[in-house]
Amino acid sequence: MDYAPVKGTHDVYGKEADELRYITSVLSATAELYAYKEIIPPVLEYTEVFSRGTGASSDIVRKEMYTFSDKGDRSVTMRPEFTAGVVRAVVSNKLYATEDLPLKLYYVGPAFRYERPQLGRFRQFNQFGVEAIGLDSAKADAECVIMAMQGLYMLGFKKLSLKINTIGDDASRSAYRAALTSYFAAHIDAMCEDCHERLSLNPLRILDCKVAKDQEIVKGAPKIKGYLSEASDKRFYETLSILNDLGVDYEIDDSLVRGLDYYSEMVFEIHAASAEGADYGAICGGGHYGGLVKELGGPDLAGVGFAMGLERIDALLSEGHLLDKIASGIDLYVMPVGAEVLEEAFKLTEQCRMLGYSCETPLQALKMGPMFKKAEKRGARFALIVGQDELDKGVAQLKDLAAKAQKEIRLADLAKELDAAFAPYDGDEDGCAEGDPAPKGETEKK
Ligand code: ATP
Ligand code: MG
Repeated sequence: MDYAPVKGTHDVYGKEADELRYITSVLSATAELYAYKEIIPPVLEYTEVFSRGTGASSDIVRKEMYTFSDKGDRSVTMRPEFTAGVVRAVVSNKLYATEDLPLKLYYVGPAFRYERPQLGRFRQFNQFGVEAIGLDSAKADAECVIMAMQGLYMLGFKKLSLKINTIGDDASRSAYRAALTSYFAAHIDAMCEDCHERLSLNPLRILDCKVAKDQEIVKGAPKIKGYLSEASDKRFYETLSILNDLGVDYEIDDSLVRGLDYYSEMVFEIHAASAEGADYGAICGGGHYGGLVKELGGPDLAGVGFAMGLERIDALLSEGHLLDKIASGIDLYVMPVGAEVLEEAFKLTEQCRMLGYSCETPLQALKMGPMFKKAEKRGARFALIVGQDELDKGVAQLKDLAAKAQKEIRLADLAKELDAAFAPYDGDEDGCAEGDPAPKGETEKK
């Protein structure tokens, strides 16, 4: 039996693991700039959280969920998306009552959807996202869009395309749904099987059908604009005017409705061009939601949020060579010269780690050549070379492996010597080894 990973899942290691960690850290830092705090909801939820939350007419609930009965015969689902679970957590923990509103939460982790695996589409994939709950305003909607764009720019994307639309309040949507029902009823015979079901469940879902011939029919469908209430119209234009004021480019896409049932008012998607012309679909999708908190048993609070697909972001950044420089090597490779200094080298390595430097030592006697090879494979910046002669004098050789420069350092001053070697150049002509370098942890390391 050949144990391959489950179809649509893959093992993340090496460069991809570095990249995903880097992407997550930049996006989390961006969310923290906007005063968001992390929430870590469980992967498993009772199925109802999604069937009621994400919505019975969504493709996710209709076709894509990993749902099973646990040993206690309860139906549970591995989250296909985070919003419903985050809102469930807010309600379960009464965060709306104990924390200041709006609650501002960000999350990161795997989501599971039973979809056909293809470019940029997996059955287990990672999402980063945010939810701001408890402030119902066009400004909150605008801030959410701006934060999503900001996070992606911080990652290095040069050109992003923001598509935005409004699907209005409940009254606007029910008038629009009625208009769509009569339009699509006249065309449904020519449309895919899925759309037959969508027509009876929620004709809005037909608008994001991806079948080409259905897309042609969608083009002729009525537009939301004609059915918007005055309040929804005003709210949307307030959001847009904030984007205008901040110089955020967007395109109003009047067939954008997003595939999840809880959205109302503003919805948006962000796309990025692929350097190789591939189509990865959206890298971010989000919008405002009105009834979700109440639907899941909480008070009548609105929210706004987005979710990003980390694998799609990674693929696009990698294609554009925007992740080539993320360093993943260690700081130091400690090289014992001869078996008799193995123990001292071991201790020295521990000492360096206690000072906050990542390092490795071979734990066995090796010749210099193989040690330099190992140091290179680990991406070490410096080699710290110690032999018996050096130890007797209380010194070691610190070799910059890129610049090939070597210098003797006093082991009694190890912390100071390493901080000086790793300190960023401060512009002082005499270099930065002199004086009193800031201790490790207070300086940028790399
Ligand atoms: P799509 O239209 O591509 O199916 P979606 O509307 O179903 O996307 P959302 O539910 O909005 O996606 O999820 C947010 C983001 O998560 C998407 O913009 C995309 O980047 C990513 N994503 C969604 N499904 C997958 C998947 N199966 N594999 C990888 N990434 C995904
Ligand atoms: Mg989808």
